[in-house]
Amino acid sequence: SDKKTINLNRLVKEYLFSPEHAELQKRFPQVKVDTKLDEELLNISCSVVHIKKTILNLVLNAAEATKEGNILLQTKNCYIDSPFGQYEEVAVGEYVRLQICDNGPGIAAEDIEHIFEPFFTRKKLGHSGTGLGLAVVWNTVQDHGGYIDVDQPERGSCFKIYLPVCRGEI
Ligand code: ADP
Ligand code: MG
Repeated sequence: SDKKTINLNRLVKEYLFSPEHAELQKRFPQVKVDTKLDEELLNISCSVVHIKKTILNLVLNAAEATKEGNILLQTKNCYIDSPFGQYEEVAVGEYVRLQICDNGPGIAAEDIEHIFEPFFTRKKLGHSGTGLGLAVVWNTVQDHGGYIDVDQPERGSCFKIYLPVCRGEI
């Protein structure tokens, strides 16, 4: 496969220095992006291109939602031991979690179960959105043996991606 063992913090940093992110910052000059990266973060096995595209899709949605607010990208090691979100079962074990939160208007309750469907969009025609961003994100996360969940904090949205830890041999 095209997957390699890598630290997700590195991909987040590479994304933030990418031409794609520079372009996004130009389109949304008021949006402030912060990071809170776990120094002890464990490695994952992933397709670098696909995970960077996933980060871009989620940051883009967050920027379009918040317009002049804040986006926080956060990484953390975590252990999953029980089902959550839309999942009926989970593979128990160690995961790396990437959280992308914004303080935009959030997602309507009746939309939550549809946002990962291809072509679901609430954006106006002619907008860059085609409703495919989250469907692609969902596929990428599946392909990595991971999970995605979305939280509705008091203000905004919080997307959480869980990717299995890859410890490799010693
Ligand atoms: P698109 O961005 O083209 O509309 P996506 O698949 O990326 O398609 O997202 C689908 C829908 O999910 C969006 O139209 C929007 O209604 C909702 N959504 C996604 N991310 C956010 C967010 N951070 N805040 C509010 N709504 C969101
Ligand atoms: Mg989108």
